[in-house]
This record gives sequence, structure tokens and C-alpha cells, in this order.
Amino acid sequence: MARHLITSAIPYINGIKHLGNLVGSQLPADLYARYLRGRGNEVLFLCATDEHGTPAELAAAKAGKPVDEYCAEMHEVQSGIAEGFRLSFDHFGRSSSQRNQELTQHFAGVLDEQGLIREVSETQMYSPTDGRYLPDRYIEGTCPNCGFDSARGDQCDNCTKQLDPVDLINPHSTISGATDLEMRETKHLYLCQSQMKDELEAWIDSKSDWPVLTTSIAKKWLNDGDGLQDRGITRDLDWGVPVKKGTEDWPGMEGKVFYVWFDAPIEYIACSQEWVDAGKGEDWQRWWRTDAGAADVTYTQFMGKDNVPFHTLSFPATILGSGEPWKLVDYIKSFNYLNYEGGQFSTSRGRGVFMDQALEVLPSDYWRWWLLSHAPESSDAEFTWENFQASVNKDLADVLGNFVSRVTKFCRSKFGEVVPEGGSYGEAEEALLAELTERLQRYEQMMDAMEVRKSAQELRAIWAAGNEYLQSAAPWAAFKEDPERAAAIVRLSLNLIRLYAVLSAPFIPDTSAVLKEAMKLDSLDWPGDLNEALSALPAGAEFTVPENLFRKITDDEREEWQQRFSGKRD
Ligand SMILES: [Zn+2]
Repeated sequence: MARHLITSAIPYINGIKHLGNLVGSQLPADLYARYLRGRGNEVLFLCATDEHGTPAELAAAKAGKPVDEYCAEMHEVQSGIAEGFRLSFDHFGRSSSQRNQELTQHFAGVLDEQGLIREVSETQMYSPTDGRYLPDRYIEGTCPNCGFDSARGDQCDNCTKQLDPVDLINPHSTISGATDLEMRETKHLYLCQSQMKDELEAWIDSKSDWPVLTTSIAKKWLNDGDGLQDRGITRDLDWGVPVKKGTEDWPGMEGKVFYVWFDAPIEYIACSQEWVDAGKGEDWQRWWRTDAGAADVTYTQFMGKDNVPFHTLSFPATILGSGEPWKLVDYIKSFNYLNYEGGQFSTSRGRGVFMDQALEVLPSDYWRWWLLSHAPESSDAEFTWENFQASVNKDLADVLGNFVSRVTKFCRSKFGEVVPEGGSYGEAEEALLAELTERLQRYEQMMDAMEVRKSAQELRAIWAAGNEYLQSAAPWAAFKEDPERAAAIVRLSLNLIRLYAVLSAPFIPDTSAVLKEAMKLDSLDWPGDLNEALSALPAGAEFTVPENLFRKITDDEREEWQQRFSGKRD
């Protein structure tokens, strides 16, 4: 039994994520985790909320709540939505946990011992009115380059020029509007990534099987311009992991916290400790410490392309730089963006479908199927209501749903709710078996390779093959002349339903569970030999006709939803 560690990029605590976020990491990670479990592997699948940083503080202030309370509430909300989409995390942790705090401080301490941390004095905008240092993007003013009056401290959105807050004319705080900003001296810790460039590059070069999307982004950051830069890993904020050297105070760094991007990926490890604390597992070290059993673990990360630099460079720099035997990632599966109806999803303007709203409209399997079968792998993808309607109505309702309904209802009317006996298989059945054997092999290859879209295509073809067989074998016609022949066709078709319950489970787990119950199955064991799998339900086995598996989306509904999600959410 192989052992697989799987992590999804951890969603930021602030607000509910949209469908593009879902398909960019959590959902394909869940698909892979379910598939590997289904095939009998030992899997640890982890995700968490990313809770530190200024946006969380500001969102909490806006909600009129202390930031820790706000984060605890939002964690519950995100956790509930994850359950709604059937994301099968072994644990859904929190980056603000005590575990992550201790581990982050530990890594900073050992990195310092390895000579990879340096202190840097710099000046930063301070707002006496806000009582805080302002991150660059919370300062706005007039662009010195183009005159645009809402240029941010880090960049002008109008002319795209990279800026320093001091460059801005008439700068003000976007938090309070205060204009009495002043430059103050402050001290920060930097992780000396530049010293590790060769080691990181050699490691990335050794990953010849990684997707080009992943390695090209990493290489760009390693080599473009002046090459890999040292990175500030502390901030002057209240909310975050206090800066410490292991368990010791860090002189001169009192009152500061680690930068959210330093502590967030460490939560992947801390989450496994939280998993043990929650009583769900016993030994986290055998997943993470190569000196404690993790050497044979295959570790796969899922993320959107914007997160690739941090996972190919910053987090590996933390792991490698520590000099300790931590497990490094083996494979990074990254995704492009999902767009919405000719534009982008927009959280601020409420444009597009958000995870909570999606579940109000339709059950999760509808969304899971569309999103995974249209995953933005080789390029950006686009959600349109027309495509969603067509895909749901055709693939789910007409192909899979219709097959299950016709077979079970026909059987009930002619033979009762029991697998009929008699008759034998002929040429049509042999041809179907040959086709399915080939397709199943391809399906497994594509799933092993995390080719999400191609896996969906193959699964759809496996469903369609059953439909075509049923249509041409026509048991309703055969029944009049040769009831035994009809019995054989129905028996095979009922076994196909069982097979579909197994193979479809990673994509549409709820539907799979309905089929499992209807066919009265004890388990959903992955098929070995297809011949055997298609006689697993013997003559005499009972079943019940399930409720309609999928309903069709009407044109009226499509238009209503198109209107409803076009923008303006609070
Ligand atoms: Zn400008």
C-alpha cells in the first residue's frame, strides 16, 4: 500500500471563496485524494485556513469583532462550505493554531542558526492616526508617473509602474484616510534566499516530471532580473505569530510578527499535528519527517498559478535551509484561472458564483462535475451558464442519469427489483467489455497523472458506452421474443450501474453514494478484472429503483441565475 500526502493551497480566512478558487486547488486535490483512497492507498489529505495578515485585521474591524473571534467564526463558515462540497480533508486546520505558532518560531530559530536570517533596518510609512505601520497597498496617492489619483503604494494600476510609498504625491491611508503619514525607522528579519539559489535551482531541475506551468514560473523567479531576492519575513502588525527564535525571545524584534507568507505554508505540517490533537490520527511524523518514516511518502501539492513561487521557492527555502529532515514536495499540480462569463470573478464586486451561493442553487455534484470536467489546466477556462446548463443536462442527466433510470425501471417492470437470471452474453457484450477494459485503463492512467479534464472525458465515455450498449441491445424489444436475452442485457446493465458507482465516486461522491445504496452494495472496491467486476451482482441480488439522479436545468433558470450573479453582492 503506497502512502500519499496531499495538501491543497490554504484559502485566506477573509470571506467566502468563488468557484474559481475552488477548482484551482481544493477540488482537484479532493478528486485525487478520493481516487487514491478508492484504489486502496493510504492517504493523508490536509487543508486549513490562512488566518494572519492585514486583510484579516481589516475585515474583523469592519465586522466589528476582535480578529481572533472573526477568524474562528470564518473558519467555521469555510469548514461548513467545504463539507457541503464534500471536500474530504482528513483535517481542516488553522494557521493561527498554537501548533503552527510553535513550528513557525522553531523554523525561524533553526534558519537563524544556519546563518540564513539577517536583520535589516528600513524606513516604513507610519500612520499616527491608525496607530500602525501601513503595508504598501494600504497607502494611496497620486502616481508621479501618470498622474492617476488612486495609485497604490506598491504599484500604479493605471500605468503599472512599480512604486514605493514615498514616491506617491499626497499619500493617504486607505484605512482611515489619514494624510499625516511619516516615515519611521523599523527593523525586520530577512530570509537569505539568495544564498540558497543554487540549491533550489538544482532541486527544481531534478523535477523533470513537473508541469511546465510550475517549473517555468519557478525559473522566472530564480533568474529574472537580479535573480532570487532575500525576503522579509516579519511585519509590524499585532495579528500573527510573534517573532521568536525557537522558544526564546528575539532581541530587538519585540512586538513584531512573522509575515503571513512565512507561517502559512508551515501550517501544512502543523495541520498534521492538529490532526493528531483532534484524535483523528496517531503519528504525524511518519508523514513529514524522513527520519521517522516519511521517506516513502509521495507528497503532492495543489494550487493556483499565483501560489507557485511561494511553493517552489520560499517554502522549500525554509525546509532545505533548516538542515532538518523534513519531507519536501514531490509533485506540484498548478492551475490557471477560471474566468466568469467573459470577465473575471470579482470578490469585491460580487461578480460570479461564490461557494455558498452555488450550494443554494444546486447540489454539489453538479458543480463538482462541471468544474472538474472544465478545470483550467493547460490554459485559463471560462464558466458560462450556457455551457454549465448544456454540460449538466447532457453528461449528468441524459447520459448517466438516464441510463440508471431506464435500466432500473425496465427491470422492475419486467423482472421485479432483483437482478434477473437466465440468458447468456454474446458479441455485443464482448465488444462492450473490450471497450470498457481499454477505457478503464486510460481513466486510471489519466487519474494517476492528475490530468483532470482528460479523466473526466474518459469517465463520460465510460458512461456513454453503457448508454449506447443499452440503446442497441434494446432489452424492451428483446423481451417480446426472447425474455432470457432481455434478462442477460439487464443483468449486465445493472452491473454497469455498480461499476459507475465505483468509478464516478471521486468526481460525484453523493451520486455514487445514492447508487451504492440503491444497488445495496457493501463497498465501492476499485475493479481489478473488469470481467469479474461486471458479474459482481449475481442473479437474485436485490436493488431498489433510485430517485431521479439529476434534474435538468431549464432555460428560465439559466437566465435567472445569469442575472443574479452578474455582480453587486454586498
Ligand atoms: Zn501611474
